[in-house]
Amino acid sequence: MKRCRLNQPDANVYRRGYPACPTSAILIHWNDETMVRRHAIASLLVTGAWTKGVAWAKGVDRFFDGAHGASVLVDRKTRRLIAAHAPELASGSAAPPGSTLKPLVLNALLERGQLRAGDSFPCPHDLRLEGRSFDCSHPPLPAPLTVRTAIAYSCNCFVAHYAPRFRDGELARVMERWGLVSRTNWFGEREGAGRVWNASPELQALGEDGVLVTPASLAMAYCRLASRAAPAVLAGMADAVSFGTAQRAQVTGLKVAGKTGSVRTPAGVYLAWFAGFTDGAVVTVMLQARSGGADAAPIAGRILEAHWKGQL
Ligand SMILES: [Zn+2]
Repeated sequence: MKRCRLNQPDANVYRRGYPACPTSAILIHWNDETMVRRHAIASLLVTGAWTKGVAWAKGVDRFFDGAHGASVLVDRKTRRLIAAHAPELASGSAAPPGSTLKPLVLNALLERGQLRAGDSFPCPHDLRLEGRSFDCSHPPLPAPLTVRTAIAYSCNCFVAHYAPRFRDGELARVMERWGLVSRTNWFGEREGAGRVWNASPELQALGEDGVLVTPASLAMAYCRLASRAAPAVLAGMADAVSFGTAQRAQVTGLKVAGKTGSVRTPAGVYLAWFAGFTDGAVVTVMLQARSGGADAAPIAGRILEAHWKGQL
């Protein structure tokens, strides 16, 4: 039997059946705003109506090996859903996206001329925002960072330094334009949506406050990013997989670009993210785990490899 992870119950915990753990129940700490129509969704799980007779149900479940999370795999060109793991979470749970937001934020600054690809900033490593520590986790680097290296190494200080260049409310509108809070229509009427609100630009740009996304909406945003990212952003995401924070998404012989994220929700849940793409597909993985690089990236890599080899 696969082992399920159980959390300590609290006021925000919901007990729900979970397909990857059929003999047990999982406790999820999403708060009220992050769980969409959970009772309706729970009953759908019981009847199996989510996955009955739909093409994308040729799932990616096997890559999760009992870990609690969700994934969406999309055809990069047609933007059609190819496969999904835990569709109720993939389309109905909204969570802070953490550092998966960095390429979207930096690309928007570049598009607006508020940042240039060659602008550089020496990372001071330590970052404190509203009483919380967001110190960089990358090793000391010999040169100041640029857009490309800031994405490769997921530099919090770089993004927080340039985020105030957005005008008031502009970053929230940027995220709406990426589609981060829109329904994708991949999951029909049952699909939920993310949310965006004004917050401090630094925390919002780091995906820690002012924005909640679903794995589905993040995948849609990355479809758009894949088609129009600035060269420095594309190169940064390729570097992240080659030698940066997303190395464990590497697939021998396949070009993968992407970005990890690791966040702790206000309810205390640790979430690990990966969002990225190959020439053929876009994938997002959200996992109840500590590290986007160690936990989410390897699952994403295996999903992209299976798609590349025609197994999905
Ligand atoms: Zn840094």
